[in-house]
Amino acid sequence: MAELIKGSLVASHLRHQVRKDVAALRAGGVEPCLAVCLVGDDPASQIYVQRKQQACAVVGIKSVRVDLPAGVAQAELDQLICRWNANPAIHGILVQLPLPAQIDRFAVLDGIDPGKDVDGTGSVNMGGLIHGSARFWPCTPAAIIELFKYHGVATCGKHVVIVNRSIVVGLPLAALLVQDHEFGNATVTLCHEHTREIERICRGSDIVVVAVGKPEQFTLRGSMVKRGAVVVDVGITRNGRRLTGDVAFDEVAAKASLITPVPGGVGPCTIAMLLKNTVQAARPVGPHPLLSPSPNPGGRRRSGVVRSVAGPVNPAAASP
Ligand code: NAP
Repeated sequence: MAELIKGSLVASHLRHQVRKDVAALRAGGVEPCLAVCLVGDDPASQIYVQRKQQACAVVGIKSVRVDLPAGVAQAELDQLICRWNANPAIHGILVQLPLPAQIDRFAVLDGIDPGKDVDGTGSVNMGGLIHGSARFWPCTPAAIIELFKYHGVATCGKHVVIVNRSIVVGLPLAALLVQDHEFGNATVTLCHEHTREIERICRGSDIVVVAVGKPEQFTLRGSMVKRGAVVVDVGITRNGRRLTGDVAFDEVAAKASLITPVPGGVGPCTIAMLLKNTVQAARPVGPHPLLSPSPNPGGRRRSGVVRSVAGPVNPAAASP
């Protein structure tokens, strides 16, 4: 039976550090502030935004929120971002995705000042992720790497499959995992709706990351994973008050060595990474700090050789 990946515990370690960082910033006269924009009335997005604001409150980060109607014009959203960019009291800006069809989401994300782009999805940070110079990594890939650090999951030489190619999950995670650094050097396959033989690809992989969110179309079954695989379930589907992921948990847990639960896996860690990025945004820009040590002091290694940090660094993961 697989060991559970402790997303809630890792998130609580991260929040603990963020709380201390916020206190230090406040003592220096800086009140970290995250501005969040929600467009439309998608119930799932409402809940995500609410949770992010609650998490900010818990660690002492101020948050402001603007809700815009689903039919909002691009110009109105652009103007809001411009005002937030120019406001020195706002350190991080988050536009909750997805956006309605009439909005060019890449234009919106690119309108955010890269120094306030705490979701790491603008082209400057996304390009910087490839160059190793990003100020912010997107929160979900950063969370998954933090979970690997905590559980000592070595990625070097491993075959990772990611069922998702979005800009918030699959693309940045693939870019991080293939690079030559401590939590990289993996061989990555990205899958999507047009991929053939997903089952065979998943079964051949050491690490399986799934983020589809459409259980009627895709569920990772026990027959699709090899014995000992590490399985990360990012998907979230709401069934009434219950949250479920993309994995047939019991079947897959019987074969995997490590698995994330839903809820309590990637989700809380993603929110903790957003808090960390916001604190980082509130600090004066300095030289890139190095990766922070894992919150798991022992850092048990599962297998493989882990190289020292040589390439990209996650500034968001560093303490002052
Ligand atoms: P998205 O942009 O809709 O991406 C979904 C991905 O799944 C796409 O790449 C899509 O392929 C692929 N896909 C859809 N149907 C498929 C199928 N039958 N077989 C294989 N691949 C298929 O959504 P997202 O924003 O990345 O989020 C994905 C899921 O993760 C959602 O459930 C979301 O709520 C969840 N999520 C959770 C967290 C967290 O913190 N836990 C964070 C972010 C997202 P195409 O590109 O070909 O359409």
